[in-house]
Amino acid sequence: MAVGQEIICYCSSCDLDLRHVIVAHKSGNTGPIAKVRCNTCAKIHAYRNKPAAGGTGVRVVKERQKATVIPIEVEWMEQLNANKDKQSLPYVPTKDFKVGDVIEHPQFGCGVVKNLKDGNKFEVIFQKDVKVLVHRLKAD
Ligand SMILES: [Zn+2]
Repeated sequence: MAVGQEIICYCSSCDLDLRHVIVAHKSGNTGPIAKVRCNTCAKIHAYRNKPAAGGTGVRVVKERQKATVIPIEVEWMEQLNANKDKQSLPYVPTKDFKVGDVIEHPQFGCGVVKNLKDGNKFEVIFQKDVKVLVHRLKAD
């Protein structure tokens, strides 16, 4: 682990396990991680692997916080957060979507366009899955 690398750890502002960039180590570049910056809220805070024990009662550890890989849901949330100022567009195959568009799909729900593929296909990240959808279809 080195400064600039991404890790998943707990963000006290977001109250979730999220992607963070390491900004400082305790000793040199090899010691334990000291400070991280949250990719979602951009707050720099002390590295914490587990939620701090709150003074208000027992905190229930959510199931997904045990996951070691980046859950699709976290990426989905980050994408939605990054594009939260955009109005969501209903998914219509005749429309022309671009990366970062927030779309509302009747079956999969709310998603964010991840990238455009060859021709008329594009990838959208939804809460549970990444789907390939079509767009730019001729209306007639
Ligand atoms: Zn955060």
